[in-house]
Amino acid sequence: MAIAREGRICSFCGMPGGPGTDLPLMGGLGAQICASCITHFHAVVEDEAAIAESRRAFPWESMSDTEVLAVLPQILASAEQNQQFAHEWVELLRERNVSWAEIGRTLGVSRQAVWERFARKSGDNGATA
Ligand SMILES: [Zn+2]
Repeated sequence: MAIAREGRICSFCGMPGGPGTDLPLMGGLGAQICASCITHFHAVVEDEAAIAESRRAFPWESMSDTEVLAVLPQILASAEQNQQFAHEWVELLRERNVSWAEIGRTLGVSRQAVWERFARKSGDNGATA
């Protein structure tokens, strides 16, 4: 299974984007960002007053409970996207014949622990490596 950009969301605003949409996404390590968020954050870092404001208070401090609740599904969708990306990355390593033992060493866990975390969903039985 190749790592795909289809079906991804912007990790900052939650908008769906990627190929086949009007919202290009870029990113790495599982996080994705859309052009609108890049433009927004670029404007903030170029505006000393906006930077000073961002240092004074977290955005959620001025949000209503309804607004905070509305963001919760987006946070979980972004977290799940990152978890899915980690699984795809492990699948990439397995397709390159990197052993479960080596992946486990990299993560500081046993071969068995990494297999239990990643192989069960992918269907890789890990019988030989
Ligand atoms: Zn965005």
